[in-house]
Amino acid sequence: MADKRDYYEVLGVQKGASEDEIKKAYRKKAKEYHPDLNPGDAKAEAMFKEANEAYEVLSDNHKRARYDQFGHAGVDPNYGAGGAGGYGGGFGGGGFDFDLGDIFGSFFGGGFGGGRQSNPNAPRKGEDVQTRVTVSFEDAAKGCKRTVDINRIDTCTECNGSGAKAGTSAKSCPDCGGRGYVVVDQRTPFGVMQTQKTCPKCSGKGKVITDPCEKCHGAGRVSSKASVEVNIPAGIDDRQVFTVRGAGNAGTNGGPKGDLKVAVFVRPHAEFERDGYNVWLEQRVSYPQAVLGDSLRIKTLDGDVKFDLPAGTQSGTVFSLKGKGIQILGGRGRGDQLVRIIVDVPKNLTQRQKELMLELEKELGVKRGAPMNGKKGGFFDKFKN
Ligand SMILES: [Zn+2]
Ligand SMILES: [Zn+2]
Repeated sequence: MADKRDYYEVLGVQKGASEDEIKKAYRKKAKEYHPDLNPGDAKAEAMFKEANEAYEVLSDNHKRARYDQFGHAGVDPNYGAGGAGGYGGGFGGGGFDFDLGDIFGSFFGGGFGGGRQSNPNAPRKGEDVQTRVTVSFEDAAKGCKRTVDINRIDTCTECNGSGAKAGTSAKSCPDCGGRGYVVVDQRTPFGVMQTQKTCPKCSGKGKVITDPCEKCHGAGRVSSKASVEVNIPAGIDDRQVFTVRGAGNAGTNGGPKGDLKVAVFVRPHAEFERDGYNVWLEQRVSYPQAVLGDSLRIKTLDGDVKFDLPAGTQSGTVFSLKGKGIQILGGRGRGDQLVRIIVDVPKNLTQRQKELMLELEKELGVKRGAPMNGKKGGFFDKFKN
């Protein structure tokens, strides 16, 4: 744990790399080390995990900025000896980052508690709490359950939110007689004037707690750590936010609970690429497969499916697998999977392969030195004939 590799080194990018470069580099590493592609290879698995961890930090502007400034200690509370040292004060408890910054500014901008409450006894909704999760491409496409650990403010269980010690209750304020305001004499050049002001003893509530609850010291709410199970909705995309109603801070004066806002980060997939609700896959086929056609197994989000590649398929042809894409967020149905066929042109032929190729060329009547116009009378058309 103490000597982690540098995250930029892990992904093989420069320190100033752009978001796009980081994404590309991650996909490359994921392709190289994905456990599906390296079954039983513990080293590849470790490299895959390391790349995931590096991506999680470097793809997130805030975490990345902290990593750039403080190194591993800036993004991992348990990093280094003892843990108390490096993490510092300002990062929020429990390793969660509540300041989601620019990307989610529009979501988290306003919030509650902005306007002053005129009536201190009016029910107030609790504040929203924010957190983030990182999920795999497949989990985002199909939805999944996650448990998130958050810090929030809950109603004090000792006093049920009253703030008063068990067996006691708040008493009418002696200074204002429960009215919440006091009348004061004010000397002015025009004589003594009487004005009303909020009672300083009870802050306008009209009640005072003489025996405060020992757990919450009269506040009625306490900060606590909570594990919340959330359903990550199928079809959610990278950097989208969803809301879990009522999982935020407790309200006051009997007001409802605030919400939990979960920002989702989706790790790019080694092979699939998202395009709205469609998924792109590049499928490489051999030259003879493209020419003669073949019955292929093609990877989809639902596992491999059978696909009949027609004879004479050109490189770059796109086939659509209906309904094999991503679940439509909050709706019915799924997008499609789009398969782009890439024909591998054989390289480093043996002498015999070259001879066969030349023979084929002759048989097809290909003229050397004359560029093929690709339409009528092209290579494949001739082959088919
Ligand atoms: Zn209490
Ligand atoms: Zn008072």
